[in-house]
Parts: sequence; C-alpha cells; structure tokens
Amino acid sequence: MQQMPEQLIYMDYNATTPCDPRVVEAMLPYFSARFGNAASHTHAFGWEAREAAELAREQVAGLIGAEAGELVFTSGATEAINLALKGIFELYRHKGNHIITCVTEHKAVLDTCAELERRGAAVTYLPVDGAGRLDPDALAAALTPQTLLVSVMYANNETGVIQDIPLLSRLSREQGALFMTDATQALGKIPVEVNRDGIDLLCCSAHKLYGPKGAGALYLRRRAPRVRLHPLIHGGGHEKGLRSGTLNVPGIVGLGAAAECCRREMQADAARLGALRDELEKTLLRTGRARINGDAGHRLPHVSNLAFLRTDGNALLSAVTKRVAVSSGSACTSALPRPSHVLSAMGLDPSLARASLRLSLGRMTTPEEVQEAARFIGQTLAELGPTETA
Ligand SMILES: *Cc1c(COP(=O)(O)O)cnc(C)c1O
Repeated sequence: MQQMPEQLIYMDYNATTPCDPRVVEAMLPYFSARFGNAASHTHAFGWEAREAAELAREQVAGLIGAEAGELVFTSGATEAINLALKGIFELYRHKGNHIITCVTEHKAVLDTCAELERRGAAVTYLPVDGAGRLDPDALAAALTPQTLLVSVMYANNETGVIQDIPLLSRLSREQGALFMTDATQALGKIPVEVNRDGIDLLCCSAHKLYGPKGAGALYLRRRAPRVRLHPLIHGGGHEKGLRSGTLNVPGIVGLGAAAECCRREMQADAARLGALRDELEKTLLRTGRARINGDAGHRLPHVSNLAFLRTDGNALLSAVTKRVAVSSGSACTSALPRPSHVLSAMGLDPSLARASLRLSLGRMTTPEEVQEAARFIGQTLAELGPTETA
C-alpha cells in the first residue's frame, strides 16, 4: 500500500467526502444489532430495518421537497442515472427515441447515452459557452415532438458551474419532454427543490454529501406527470419493482442521516466555505498566473477550478499533490492523460486544460488548511516558473 503523506490536505470533496461522524453513528447499529432484512414481514427484525429505511426515505425527500414515496434507493448516482435513462427509453421508445443532454455531463450520463444510441436512441449533446453554461435557446431549438427526455446536470463536478434548471425544465416540459437532472454535486450544498425547479427525475449519491459510498437514490415524480420506467435489475420486487435486491439498510440510513444534516446546515456550510474559497482564489489570482474556469457568478460556493497560464500541467500536479489532494483537468484513464472533456468543451486548449486544478472544499476544511494550500500552491508556481511557450 502507498504511504499517505502525513501532512496531506484534502481538497477533493467533489470526488468523495468523508462520512460525517453523526452519519457513522446513525449507521452503526444497522450493521449488527439491527441487522434485519427490510423485506422480512414476519418479525420485528424486519420491521425495524424497514422503519429505518422509511425514515431515511423521508429525510431524503425532505431535502428536495419531495414525498417519500417518490424515491427509489440505488447503489449510488451511477446506478440511478442508468436506471433513469435506460428505464425511460425502454418504456417510452414507442413514443419517440430522442434524448437531449449536454457535453459537460458526468461520464455516468454520457456513457449511458452512448449505450442508448447503440440501442436505437437519437441523442443530442448540447454545447456550453466559455463559462460552462448551456444556452436555453439551443435547448429550445433542439426539442422535437420525438424528445422523450432532457437530462442536464444541476451543478458540474469539475467546475461547480450551476445550470439554470428552472428555465431548462420549463422549456423541456412545455414541449412534452420529461426533465431529469443529475444533482449529485448540488444536493446538500445548495437548495434543490423538485417542484420549484420543475424536476421529473433526479439522481443523487450519499458519498458526495458526507454519507457512505454505495448508496444513492432516484427521485421519480408521482403526479403531473407520473413518471414510470422499466427496471434495470429484476428480482424480488423491492422498491415497487423498480430496483430489486435486499436493501442496503446501513447505507440507506447513512444517506438519510447525511441528507438531514445537509438540510439543517447547508446554508451555514455554504457561507463559510464560500468565504474560504474566495480567499483561496484571491491569493492564487494575485500570482497573475491563474484564471477561473467557469461562470464565477453561477458556481457552487465550495468549488474552484483554476487554469494556470504558462505552466506545465504535469509538473504542477505532481508537485501540488505532495501537499494538497486535488484533482486535475485531465482524466488519468490512460497512460497519456486526456484533457478534461468539460474544460475542452468550454474551449480550453489541451495544455491549459491539463494545467488546471480542481480545488473542492468541504465541511471539515479549516481556514488553516486553506491558507496553507494557497501558500503551497503559490510557492509551487513560483518554483516551477512560467514556461517559455503557451
Ligand atoms: C460522483 C458523481 C456521479 C457518480 O456517483 P456515484 O454514486 O459515485 O456512482 C455522477 N454524477 C456526478 C455529477 C458526480 O459527481
């Protein structure tokens, strides 16, 4: 196993968050003393587990202004997204085969859409502007009577850029399309309300909001319109037949507890982290070598994606991550890191995308950590010096 540097500062909360200690505490009994199967109807072990899962359903519903009965528990956002997109396409394909999404979506959406294209879907990938925002007129122009579904993420995982969901959903629904949003990064950080925002389907994940990995949920509107879909996983008929398999009760309890903490605290968290993020950016922008990627006026408060001009991206990343755990503007799925599809879609050239860092703060981030990270990154930039070209 690789040694964890002792002084590593975590600034990658958009990749995953630690469980809040209150979440762990809520989960613990459900691993041992309260281990029942929520589908066991004949005894108290089962009833206890079912009650815990139903409380969690209400807690998640409370965070998004939904009803408990509108939520389906899944293993995370990737599964919720697959269930939503494939499930809608499978059930409604006789009505049309058109789906609209956006180029800056998470791979969970893009790769699922690519699979649907292999199954006969026609998918439109809307572009974004230089600030990462989608043009509502482009959506309006792309909608046709064949459009089943529009899927646009609430906030981007790399840049934190927030889309105008109420407007985009209104345009979609006026044309008879369902509106879905991957709210994995927005949920628990900024107010998300399915009725105010006109959302028909919403996907989320516990481990992005201080809950455990392996738990998530799909919201399906029950009235006006009632959203139906074809299941992905068949079996015992759990979750109204939409997601069979024994419920992950500890994970679901954790998701519920995490949602409850966020509902109470997100406003205060956002104010505190927004101030820290702004301080971090102010320090780094003062170097004259940094530029903000994404619409500074429409961003999650705890996220900063910065492009470093005249800087060797690989050298920057390997130096910075000795002290600060951040992610880069590239996907390391291959030997040669490919520049981020999000930053590329915003018009950044490959070298500038590679010389970009995503800094994401969270509930456990301290002012001292932010000051030290700003100092260390500034020092690293000075040591690396500006490159000759670009
Ligand atoms: C993390 C993330 C996902 C995937 O969530 P999992 O629960 O890890 O499957 C999907 N969309 C966005 C925007 C994310 O940030």
